[in-house]
Amino acid sequence: MYILPMPDQLANKIAAGEVVERPASVVKELVENSMDAKSTEIKIEIEEAGLRRIKVIDNGTGMEDEDVEIAFARHATSKIRNEKDLFHVRTLGFRGEALASIAAVSQLTVKTSTGKHAGTILKLEGGKLIERDKGDARQGTEITVDALFFNTPARLKYMKTIHTELGHITDMVNRMALSHPHIRFELIHNDKKIFKTTGRGDIIQIIAEIYGVSVAKKMIPVSYETLDFSISGYIAKPEVTRASRNYISTIINNRYIKSIPLNKAITNAYHTLLPIGRYPLVVLRVEMDPILVDVNVHPAKLEVRFSKDKELYYAIEETIREALRKQSLIPDVTKTEKKERPVSTQHTFSFEFNDKISALPTKNTQQISDEKWTTQDKAVHQGLQNQTLESMEDYTPIAELSTEEVNDENQFEQEVSIHESEKAINQSEERIPTMYPIGQHHGTYILAENEHGLYMIDQHAAQERIKYEFFRDVIGEVANELQELLIPLTFDFSKQEALLIEQYQDQLKEVGLFFEYFGQQTYIVRSHPQWFPKGHEEEIIREMVEQIIEEEKINIAKLREDAAILMSCKRSIKANHYLNKEDMFHLLEDLRKSTDPFTCPHGRPIIIHFSGYDLEKLFKRVM
Ligand code: ADP
Ligand code: MG
Repeated sequence: MYILPMPDQLANKIAAGEVVERPASVVKELVENSMDAKSTEIKIEIEEAGLRRIKVIDNGTGMEDEDVEIAFARHATSKIRNEKDLFHVRTLGFRGEALASIAAVSQLTVKTSTGKHAGTILKLEGGKLIERDKGDARQGTEITVDALFFNTPARLKYMKTIHTELGHITDMVNRMALSHPHIRFELIHNDKKIFKTTGRGDIIQIIAEIYGVSVAKKMIPVSYETLDFSISGYIAKPEVTRASRNYISTIINNRYIKSIPLNKAITNAYHTLLPIGRYPLVVLRVEMDPILVDVNVHPAKLEVRFSKDKELYYAIEETIREALRKQSLIPDVTKTEKKERPVSTQHTFSFEFNDKISALPTKNTQQISDEKWTTQDKAVHQGLQNQTLESMEDYTPIAELSTEEVNDENQFEQEVSIHESEKAINQSEERIPTMYPIGQHHGTYILAENEHGLYMIDQHAAQERIKYEFFRDVIGEVANELQELLIPLTFDFSKQEALLIEQYQDQLKEVGLFFEYFGQQTYIVRSHPQWFPKGHEEEIIREMVEQIIEEEKINIAKLREDAAILMSCKRSIKANHYLNKEDMFHLLEDLRKSTDPFTCPHGRPIIIHFSGYDLEKLFKRVM
């Protein structure tokens, strides 16, 4: 038996398999190097989603002539000199394998100069130096990676569509920009500019560039300091939700990282403000002593480990919760009189509702998950809901009032928003106690009372919540049997969509969908899984396709969740439906029995509560 060290070129090619998974990983490594070299401007030009060419141009320190060649040797790094350095890494790369790995699987040209004297040009092919030249003295580095994977055909074959690979690159550059707002980024694909930042440190501008201006407008700034952490960033108002966690960006010490517990801390902070299966859009930056972060856990360096992790998660949760609280999602009643009233009597007041919250007897909603429901509970619950469903649908509106009319008739414009504090929920044993209806306001809001005070309930939101929970259970139980469609559905897809449909034909079949090709970009669907809500087949199918485009996979649980929301919304009583007291009572009882009676599936509040004390304060009986 012979044991021999591998030739470097072979070792690099193997290492390349780990470092260079796809064009986006090349972009990542090159851009990280540029950032480590203190660049303030980084331009990324790609062709054919990087498979033909990836060029990264920076204005960083550049490399000295004698260093360039060494930089392409395996484990060559200027960033770590001894073991101690390993625990104080502030740079993005430090393993010293990226350049060697990328060069091993491409035709690479590097032009670099420190700006002091003539620069260096090296050409490598499959990791072998084939040309060396003098270059100009522009300070910075330009690395061109051509014909990626030209000598690893197996890897090349594994590449997906241009669209997919480009998506990965864009995603990567977006993250880089978010984690380095002081660097000016530019991404160009096939000569077309697709992304650009100013480098002026303005995170919200970058958010606008990535997610669009309308989303950026709905972001709330957050910041928080503890002895160990400095947290800052933007969180979306609860009305902006997304179907996946991919819109949560966490950046620790200028490094974009993925951490499940960190994501959890973020989503926990939103708690009942978001419907199940929906996620917030968040960009959060945390600065901490590098000694508290171990980035060396995962080679792709997306995952990290923290000392003081519990403290960090807690701080993040509190930061977000506090910001959401301040955004008037929380108990505060403001009352502004209309202009037609004499100025002298004009007054505005708002006050804290904290005392009221503790008076709102609620049960820890977190503890009541579906799984914990007994079958009996469920049967009773569903029975009740079926009853209401039938009785509600018979009602026709007696009067139609537009919102404007309602407003005009009101002398007061009341802006009340309420959100149950989790602490209050945790403290008490029951959910909402029985509420007795007093009447109905404009066929839209139910007024009810009990010993704890006065309640205003949005009847539409209430029924949405009840039905949503009902359908969520029902849809969750139905097996994946197929239902033939009487009239087949036809779908016209975009080119990109059609490509993806072809690519995911197998996964689609697995979930009970078969797209029959009908020429051009048209497909026919003749049957669908039984659990699809009637009349919404097309919507659900479209959503499946959207999921594939966004996430490259189908998440049945989420689709069922969405279907439940869809059905609850479509089949709920709208505003302006007059109900008699008995119906109101049943609705309130059903609501009381739901798992989460406080917000509708879209996250809007259902109940507003005034304690006796609140009312006394409003009428200035107490100060
Ligand atoms: P690492 O980044 O882990 O050190 P790389 O293989 O990515 O390893 O890079 C090797 C070395 O090449 C770096 O340590 C750095 O000194 C040098 N280098 C690479 N890219 C650049 C660049 N754009 N500007 C200046 N120096 C660079
Ligand atoms: Mg590197």
